[in-house]
Amino acid sequence: MKGDIRHAYVHVPFCRHRCGYCDFTLVAGRDDLFEDYYTALGVELKRLAQPIELDTLYLGGGTPSHLGPEGIKHLFEVLHDVLRPASAAEVTIEANPLDISEASVEAFHSCGINRVSLGVQSLNALTLSTLDRDHREDDVRRVMHLLLDSGFIVSVDLIIAAPKQTLDAASRDIEAITALGAQHVSVYCLTWEQGTAFWGKRARGTLMPVAEDIEHEMFELAIDRLSSSGYQQYEVSNFAQPEMMCRHNEAYWDCRPWEAFGPGAARFDGQNRITNIRSTSAWIKNLIAGKGVTGDVDAMTPEGAARERLVLGLRRRRGVDRISFFQQSGFQVDDLAKKPIQEWVAAGFADDDGEHVRLTRSGMLLSDSLWSAVL
Ligand code: SF4
Repeated sequence: MKGDIRHAYVHVPFCRHRCGYCDFTLVAGRDDLFEDYYTALGVELKRLAQPIELDTLYLGGGTPSHLGPEGIKHLFEVLHDVLRPASAAEVTIEANPLDISEASVEAFHSCGINRVSLGVQSLNALTLSTLDRDHREDDVRRVMHLLLDSGFIVSVDLIIAAPKQTLDAASRDIEAITALGAQHVSVYCLTWEQGTAFWGKRARGTLMPVAEDIEHEMFELAIDRLSSSGYQQYEVSNFAQPEMMCRHNEAYWDCRPWEAFGPGAARFDGQNRITNIRSTSAWIKNLIAGKGVTGDVDAMTPEGAARERLVLGLRRRRGVDRISFFQQSGFQVDDLAKKPIQEWVAAGFADDDGEHVRLTRSGMLLSDSLWSAVL
């Protein structure tokens, strides 16, 4: 088996409907395309000359669990020709709580899936309905008990700063999820993407973002509540119980090469980021017709790659070690970002002891606005 790439992502572009804030690559209500998707995926997998053994495999979307138990088994039959998780590999599937049943648990086990990333977003009825989510609090409680009792590692996605969401409601979401025992929690501030239904509603004044200071308060509250419940903020948006960090994401942030398949999926060969065309129907049509599906090739310069590595490193709690960074990238941290780092330290956004640079809590809160100075 080919030995240097140990991580793979598979994009499953199907959802029941499109949530108003979502601009991911997907088709909603097109279950009629499942069979063609499996066929096209089988063709795309042939791009690899030989099978690869994986340390992590991540099925994302879209909503992979929407394929249903039999569909997931079929998907793994297709993948197995080329993508072979090692015995201790982390195998993650993203799932909608409404898709989880005894039958899907059995399918996950039989496919070697050991980690489920649940798209919970909130337990609050008003927030769920504002976000166009179709599950309720009871569904989340039922499914989390089922998954944890069945031995899966459960990661939960939560959204904060959703329209109409109060600080109190966000606080109750976090408390409920920690009490339910999720081993990993990802907390994302809602982003408003052009072209989404939310974007249009905001332009018309019918849906408004929460105030920026409330958004910051919510994020601080998330950090406090999760930390006091034993979760470590190991990256800006990601919190884990001890030893429960997502190994797949760690591979991305370490800039290790990875494979990726499916519409809109982006792979990294160690130097270039290659992204497939986003249209699911065009991706299927091209592959079945024997044509290529490459959409975009980002040939990174060594300096561009080093700058990206620096940002990914600074997003992590442990920050960047100057010597390791030079060994891995060939660039000195200070040649890339001396002035911004000095400014962040002066403003209280970063600590720098001469060996390591890492963001402070206030730096973590503002991190997205810091990166333009490095990139
Ligand atoms: S379920 Fe997830 S991927 Fe699907 S539309 Fe909603 S937010 Fe987007």
